[in-house]
Amino acid sequence: MYDENNIFAKILRSEIPCNKIYEDNYTLIFHDIKPSAPVHLLAIPKGKFKSFNDFILNAPQEHITSYFKSIQNITNNQKIVDSGYRLITNHGNHGMQTVEHFHVHILGGKLLGPIISGDKFHT
Ligand code: 5GP
Repeated sequence: MYDENNIFAKILRSEIPCNKIYEDNYTLIFHDIKPSAPVHLLAIPKGKFKSFNDFILNAPQEHITSYFKSIQNITNNQKIVDSGYRLITNHGNHGMQTVEHFHVHILGGKLLGPIISGDKFHT
């Protein structure tokens, strides 16, 4: 179930502020409050989507397309296409998702390092 009181739902309802850089009918993109890189943005779809799975399974195709195109546009505007960037989305417990409204992290502006820190996985 989607929790109406998650922090990004409150941002979408303008109950708490965010440092917005882009908005249209489908998408809101704003700065992460605790940036991990010189560019660290969060792209969230409007609507009640808990995670990547929920969004892809339940959002209309035009919403999905518009949302991901907006992310691409922002990488262009932020001038991180040539230097490189990383998109991350965390889903659920093992993904360590902390805010249960689907979001993609847009990271760039420096060499980001290995994708996962810590010990290597051994079988
Ligand atoms: P997750 O761990 O769910 O993938 O990412 C949640 C992200 O939301 C974190 O990077 C965290 O810093 C960010 N965040 C949490 N609360 C707020 C907030 O109130 N405002 C903004 N702009 N970012 C937030």
